[in-house]
Amino acid sequence: YEARYRERTAESERAYERLKEDVPAGVASTYRAWDPYPFVVDRAEGVHLHDVDGNAYVDFDMNNGAGMVGHAHPAVTEAAADQLSDGTLYTHPHELLGEAAAELKKRWSMVDKVRFTNSGTESTMHAIRVARAYSGRDKLLKIEGAYHGVHDYALISKSTPAGQVGHPKRPNKVVESDGVPDEIAETVEVAPFNDLDAVEEILEEHVNEIGALIVEPVVLAKGVTQPYDGFLQGLRELCDEYGVVYIFDEVKTGVKIAPGGAAEYYDVDPDLVTMAKGIGGNFPVGAFGGREEVMSVIEDHTAHYGTYNGNPLVARVVKTVLQDVLTEDAYHHVNDLGERLVAGYEDIMADAGITGHVENVNSQGIVSFTDRRIENYRDFLDHVDVEFHENFWFGMLNQGVVPHPHDASQQWTISVQHEKRHIDEHLEAFKEIAPRLAE
Ligand code: PMP
Repeated sequence: YEARYRERTAESERAYERLKEDVPAGVASTYRAWDPYPFVVDRAEGVHLHDVDGNAYVDFDMNNGAGMVGHAHPAVTEAAADQLSDGTLYTHPHELLGEAAAELKKRWSMVDKVRFTNSGTESTMHAIRVARAYSGRDKLLKIEGAYHGVHDYALISKSTPAGQVGHPKRPNKVVESDGVPDEIAETVEVAPFNDLDAVEEILEEHVNEIGALIVEPVVLAKGVTQPYDGFLQGLRELCDEYGVVYIFDEVKTGVKIAPGGAAEYYDVDPDLVTMAKGIGGNFPVGAFGGREEVMSVIEDHTAHYGTYNGNPLVARVVKTVLQDVLTEDAYHHVNDLGERLVAGYEDIMADAGITGHVENVNSQGIVSFTDRRIENYRDFLDHVDVEFHENFWFGMLNQGVVPHPHDASQQWTISVQHEKRHIDEHLEAFKEIAPRLAE
């Protein structure tokens, strides 16, 4: 399938070679560089990506999950265009800021106060700082295999190589980038997902040291790894018992798996929530918010500044996305399509004799070539057939479908602009390649 991909994307290869002359790895975010070369995008509209070779793709990557509204959504485009002539940046207070924050508060009932940022990375960085300031403790507990952005404290044990993982209940702390001081790892502890006993042991061992726990409530950095019943609730109780600030990183789940994200879907109240992606309708915006008492440290001596924070352009967009685009009807529409895609994958794999598992939470889903449900990072590492997935990836691209962001750890996003026919095109593409894949 890769050879066919090369044939279809010769112009992309040339354009990518030119990009590499000016930009490291030819991309603006290193994740976007993959072998042999990524196709180069010319434009996007609705649910389609068009590459410089003239190929059209039905897109289920949707900007690494940021595109819950689809590409160039008319209401979002209109709101942004309307704001352009009134100014895109005021470094003074303005009322759109409160209006956008109010929309987020409607969706997360535990959120009393909101601060805007410009990305998911900034949101988790500031939420962690606020949690440390509030608790007066320096240590952060995170989950092995989870992703929280690209600042130093988040680059620990996100995709640890198999040879370095350590004991499953006490994962090694592995710094995942050169340039991150080893001392950073001294301030982070790592626990496995879906194992309350292991979390409790670590909290006990570092009692009065760990002040913050950050989780992806569904680990979307590794497929669609769902919490077992009671896990997130159990973490809530442990955080209360050990005086730890509980942070939900809802950058990927927020406003996507339910209007109020994972907090609503699993009915658990964290102390702080981080957001980005879905709230911004493809504009660069993030936010973090939470209980009044915790957020109030920002009014005291905990730094949160930023020239572009909560600018009127993105505030206007957030307000529009949450008020007018991600409506109750939109969620019904997207969730129904999600079910259709899951059922279709299951049928086709059964017919073709492919071993795989489909997992989804409403708009977010994945087909993994594995014989089991993935429950934590070790399952992902040991039991997902990544090579098979690579063939699947190129096979789907050749059929004009981008099934998800590149690689076996990433899930599809169904946007409000997808229709039944796009789900059927996705499934037709898989049906077409399934017999050869099965061989
Ligand atoms: N947290 C989570 C859960 C994410 O999925 C991501 C991005 N994939 C981030 C944080 C970082 O967001 P950004 O890319 O906007 O910095």
